[in-house]
Amino acid sequence: MAKCDYRKCEKEATVSGYVFARDGESLAPVKVDACDTHKKKDGFFEESGGSETSDPVSQEKG
Ligand SMILES: [Zn+2]
Repeated sequence: MAKCDYRKCEKEATVSGYVFARDGESLAPVKVDACDTHKKKDGFFEESGGSETSDPVSQEKG
């Protein structure tokens, strides 16, 4: 597994997801990997398999 993509974080990423980065006037989703700590951060959306509600892109899988 990759390392956490958050700055100054040396932990191993446990989940893949994305954050919304400002791209001109709109917000664009950017893929990132996050560790257990950072996956709970506001603004991080776990890609799949999460138990959290309100998934912005609901893809029904498995
Ligand atoms: Zn981290």
